[in-house]
Amino acid sequence: MRALVIVDVQNDFCHGSLATERGDEIAALIGAFQHSEQLQDNGYARIVATADNHIDPGAHFSKNPDFVDSWPAHCVAGTEGTQFHDEIDAQQFDAVFTKGEYSAAYSGFEGSFKDQSLADWLRSADITHLDVCGIATDHCVRATVLDGLKEGFDVRVLTGLVAAVDNARGDEALAEMEAAGAELL
Ligand SMILES: [Zn+2]
Repeated sequence: MRALVIVDVQNDFCHGSLATERGDEIAALIGAFQHSEQLQDNGYARIVATADNHIDPGAHFSKNPDFVDSWPAHCVAGTEGTQFHDEIDAQQFDAVFTKGEYSAAYSGFEGSFKDQSLADWLRSADITHLDVCGIATDHCVRATVLDGLKEGFDVRVLTGLVAAVDNARGDEALAEMEAAGAELL
């Protein structure tokens, strides 16, 4: 059975403190996809989201960020920036895996929902295949896809529904995901 994993489509990554160039556009496309025939055809048994939810993530935040390993403050727990983009239908999610309270946590597989990890939750729902989309291609999507493969899931990346921080790095990340065994759709 297949699940859809929507990575970090949160305000700060779309039009907030760490906005990606195409964040708002991709959020609208994912929102449309959530109510599309294509989504019905894909027959997802579960639809989940991941969300950055930082409290004190250490060196992940910096006043002088390099935008590779350190970042301006973003998705601080309890703020508007952590909320899903308005175009996203959060009612559709079977679970939201929050991550990064005290760490960088790029991968959704570092997240938890009701004390359950994403991998355990998916396995207990008999999910073997994942489709992944969201933000950012070169960071949290990349890490989530690579961890999904390591956890033994069959992973496809919905390349029309991802936004990068840096477009060249985004393309490199997609190539890396494909080399690791992901299918690029
Ligand atoms: Zn973060």
